[in-house]
Amino acid sequence: MKMFQTHKMTVSVDEHSSHLEQFQAFYQQLDDEGKTIEKLPRELIDDYQLKAVNATLAHVWKNNAYYRSMMEEKGFTTPELASLDQLASVPMLQKDVIRGDKEKILSVDPKEIGQVHLTSGTSGKPIYTAYTLADQYVYDLLPKYLELFKEKDDDVAAVALPYEFALPGLGFQRLFQFAFGTAILSLGKGGYMAPVDKSLELMKEYQATVLATTPSYAALLAEESEKYGIKIGEDIPMKKIWLTGEGCSATFRERLEKWWGCEVSFFYGSTECGVIGVECSQHNGYHIMEGHVKVEIIEPETGGVMPYGRTGEIVVTTLLREGMPMVRYKTGDLGALQKSRCSCGLVMDVLQLRGRMEHMLHIDGEAYSPFMIEHFLMELPEVGLWYHFLLDQGSLTIEAEKFRTDLSDDELAAKIKKHMADRIGITCDVVIRDDIPRTFGKAQRVFM
Ligand SMILES: [Zn+2]
Repeated sequence: MKMFQTHKMTVSVDEHSSHLEQFQAFYQQLDDEGKTIEKLPRELIDDYQLKAVNATLAHVWKNNAYYRSMMEEKGFTTPELASLDQLASVPMLQKDVIRGDKEKILSVDPKEIGQVHLTSGTSGKPIYTAYTLADQYVYDLLPKYLELFKEKDDDVAAVALPYEFALPGLGFQRLFQFAFGTAILSLGKGGYMAPVDKSLELMKEYQATVLATTPSYAALLAEESEKYGIKIGEDIPMKKIWLTGEGCSATFRERLEKWWGCEVSFFYGSTECGVIGVECSQHNGYHIMEGHVKVEIIEPETGGVMPYGRTGEIVVTTLLREGMPMVRYKTGDLGALQKSRCSCGLVMDVLQLRGRMEHMLHIDGEAYSPFMIEHFLMELPEVGLWYHFLLDQGSLTIEAEKFRTDLSDDELAAKIKKHMADRIGITCDVVIRDDIPRTFGKAQRVFM
């Protein structure tokens, strides 16, 4: 059966020449054959990735002094790998090297830059990422993942993500508009032009069917809709929510599914690397977007590449960038890769994401992912979606809110305490509050 691609626009950039042009032909052929990269035989994906890595290495070797000097220091005399395994010999890119430096890995003439994004810089100077117009509107849109994205041109997508500075708002906007032809409601997140009530009204008025936002903002919108008498599911016929930005546990996601009455899926990406992984309908982890990125897991201390199944730092090489390619970029996120045995039939590797390295909670000498603790906390339906984990010298205090329950504060606190002890064997103090602050920004839930 031929699959129909719904790209509304084919963007061309006049008289553009790029090392990425060869991949237009690759993807055009897949389109013509009614295929996507998602289900290609593994060896064809590997072959594509090797070609794309080599094209990227040749591009930065020629156009970027920093990347080239780092490779030469490691003994490279040509920027070419014979196999994907050899990627391990290419130097890794550290965040600190590019923090605050907008030229370090820029690999085109500055006048080619079409868009700059930057990380919010919560820890020091920002990281700048520069895209050419072709990066944004041509190459980033080449790989299609029609099995994962079911959005169509009769959908209306609300983008409740920051449009300022970072990639998410504009990134989703481009994806929805150009890949699926959907109408966009650019809600943003917390901008003074777009308060929550107006955002909900707009979603109702235009009958939004898709929402891209963060887990905490999806919770906030649901909570606030009740205040404004807007019935989610009736007034807003939501079909699909994409969550990105903060990460959360599977139980938090399932609670949002119940509340919104539609499927909620995770989308893992970053301002530096763009899309990295997307959840399929099985919700067993993120399929790596292998058209866009090559992902490795490394041992954070030694830098050695780890085999499938082992947890380490996620290292990303972008495959379709000319402005500022990321070559073996150390993301600071922890995860483990598995070969896909997913019943969805997709071939692309599956990533289990554990969260940011610096957010691991060290309790009684053991390191726990905050998502894991959240997972067990959210198993209790009497606990609301807003909570804090306070860590003080290895001991944990959970601040939680009640959710539609007649339990007293003391009863709920005792219940949480017992549940956490039974389920993961950690002892903690529990404080029930009714005033945990809602946020428009990135929800901060862990305090150390
Ligand atoms: Zn799958």
